[in-house]
Amino acid sequence: MPIKDISLSDAPGTLRYSYRVRLTEVQKELFKDHTDTRRALYNIFLAMNKELRANSDPSKILEILKITDEVAPQDYPESVKKLLFKQEEYDRTRAAFLSKGEDLSKHTLTIQHLNYYDTCGLLTIYKQQEDLAWLAGAPICVLQASLRDLDTAYRRFWDKKLASRFPRFKSRYDTRVSSLYLTRKNSKPISALLEGDKLKIPKLGTIEIVKHRELLGDFSMTTLIREADGRYHVSIPMKNTRTSVKRSIISEDEVVGLDAGIKTLLTLSDDSEVASLKHTAKYEVLIKKRQRKLSKCEKGSAGYTRARILVAKTQAKLARYRKHCLHVISSQLAKKYKAIVIEDLDIKRMMANKHLARLISNASWGMLYSFLAYKLQAAGGRLFQAGRYFASSKTCNSCGDKNHALKLKDRTWICQSCNTTHDRDKNAARNLRDLGKSFVRSVNSKIGALKIVPRQYLV
Ligand SMILES: [Zn+2]
Repeated sequence: MPIKDISLSDAPGTLRYSYRVRLTEVQKELFKDHTDTRRALYNIFLAMNKELRANSDPSKILEILKITDEVAPQDYPESVKKLLFKQEEYDRTRAAFLSKGEDLSKHTLTIQHLNYYDTCGLLTIYKQQEDLAWLAGAPICVLQASLRDLDTAYRRFWDKKLASRFPRFKSRYDTRVSSLYLTRKNSKPISALLEGDKLKIPKLGTIEIVKHRELLGDFSMTTLIREADGRYHVSIPMKNTRTSVKRSIISEDEVVGLDAGIKTLLTLSDDSEVASLKHTAKYEVLIKKRQRKLSKCEKGSAGYTRARILVAKTQAKLARYRKHCLHVISSQLAKKYKAIVIEDLDIKRMMANKHLARLISNASWGMLYSFLAYKLQAAGGRLFQAGRYFASSKTCNSCGDKNHALKLKDRTWICQSCNTTHDRDKNAARNLRDLGKSFVRSVNSKIGALKIVPRQYLV
């Protein structure tokens, strides 16, 4: 497919609303307790899973599962009964095979991992045990979210298609921590929990939020996050109600092409430009400087921790600055244009060298495009993406001839066939615009998205 409408297929069904919050000192302490408990619980079960898998002695199962004598066997959670039964069964088959003199290597007991429900059952028992009673200090939703995280991490690991890495222990030195809280009553979401500028969170009480925009609709969960720089904010997932905006028919004249670059962030086919973000270089230099300082510190020392937090803070600042700029730019574009054609980012990646600026730009473009996709859609506009093999830079926009000798560093070039002098970015933006125009023309005349790209445009 040479071009597709990504404002249709890729618009998010959920939008996350993010608000800064102000916590009291008591709430900060409580939140720290919650995240500490959440991390400890995750690590307890991860260690347990590892031990269970390595264990071949059935008499040790209860010990590994941290079940004390206080718990009567009839009160064991299902997961424990299941495991014990599994072990008994395994021992029986093993004995049977042994007596027949068969090869035992094929018959091993495999426990993949304790799943979410297994761990939930165990958690209930632990809360009543003296040595683990501290678990009850955190709200149940925080603990359940932690168990779910571990289950998901394992499932992703076992899934061959995903090939994720093995779950890792969570470190107490993580600079960014979060906890998920359910904000609902009797399984019904209640937006009334957000009264004025206050948000009620289980076991934390009422927290003050900096409400820069209204929340549209009900929500049933909130993630409270402490960033590396010590700021707190909540992230609230909401159903995207904006998708219901009626889409208008786009005319050919409303289509613009958009070329993303390094020196100039965006070049549009109507010759307007968006300059690169002003302050990113300044932050990047600062990050490098602070990282160098960090590398000289002795690992684990107080100075090391301080230096690491400083690096994390600067990185968070840069990320916030970049995100803010991209939000402003994408809002302006979505307001000004009806249909924007962008290129496939993969082609940029293929051409990319390992240069840091390029890697970062790639990330920025991806973020910008995702903002554009939903903002254009909300405004009734469209975002089109050219196919991977669309040669937007190499094709002459005047005659359609292709300049195969064009290098990444060539900012301007002269077409061998028609002698036109091209600005690299402007030419690319115009080619993208023309591709979009032909697409819109075909859609509007109900031909459908068949072969609409003139042959000369393909690489
Ligand atoms: Zn030409």
